[in-house]
Amino acid sequence: MKDLDSLLPILCCPSCQGKLKKEGNNLICLDCNQSFPIQNGIPFLQDKESQVMLEKGKDESPRKLGRLMSLLRNMISRLLPHPFDSPWMLSKKEKEGLPNFLSKFNPLSLILNLGSGTKDYGDNVVNLDIDTFENVNIVSDGHKIPFCDEVFDGIICCAVLEHVNNPYKVVSEMYRVLKKGGYIFSSVPFIYGFHSSTGTHQDFTRLTQFGLQELFSSFEKIETGQAGGVSISVISILSEYLALLVTGKDILHWRLQCFFAWLLFPLRLLDPILAKRNKSHRIASSFYFIGKKLEDK
Ligand SMILES: [Zn+2]
Repeated sequence: MKDLDSLLPILCCPSCQGKLKKEGNNLICLDCNQSFPIQNGIPFLQDKESQVMLEKGKDESPRKLGRLMSLLRNMISRLLPHPFDSPWMLSKKEKEGLPNFLSKFNPLSLILNLGSGTKDYGDNVVNLDIDTFENVNIVSDGHKIPFCDEVFDGIICCAVLEHVNNPYKVVSEMYRVLKKGGYIFSSVPFIYGFHSSTGTHQDFTRLTQFGLQELFSSFEKIETGQAGGVSISVISILSEYLALLVTGKDILHWRLQCFFAWLLFPLRLLDPILAKRNKSHRIASSFYFIGKKLEDK
């Protein structure tokens, strides 16, 4: 359902939205004649403008580790995984929100995961990312989604919008490719430290709960709320603060932050209580939004 031949009829040129045809290892736009490479069956649908913009947004200080340091780092990662990668740190909403959303679609519904990373939620979920992660079906830029209008029944976009140069443009693109009556699930961090894990794209933005609703105001709001609780905010900031007190060295700082975050982990147990406080949204670690594209717009 998401191999290139199946997707080709609904793909389009990221520059002019013209139809594409396959010629050898390229996709050619029938309108503007641009050529986009296909590598190992994955099309790279980025025009020059996107490439320039991405170049500007690249992490200016990516970690450059030697082979030995990389090996060492992988070993330590296995012994002491980052707490925010652990299911123990996830709130009920973070664990169940997205699976619940996806379970409401029938198996033939076509869903787009924008900024999918390595995640894969099934045969009917098309994985689009700016980077060539495992499981990615289309390498492209969310500011110019290379799909025709109104082709998806659902869209998911989790912890991505803080990494794009212009979240309003990306949301308008998601609105364009979503069918009328289709649903969207998105989440963004709020009180959470700077993170630019791959060096592919910077970390630009944080949004309050109301900022997130404003960003998705073209959709009918179905549900919104805290995804990650306030203790995660405290753990993420305080662990980074304590690590900074000890060292500014890159790899050591990262591991120390892990160590302090695990040490502070018991705070996490307070989140279900604190989530019931009216003002907890003021320092929540992340928010989610579920919306619908109205039929009559
Ligand atoms: Zn074109």
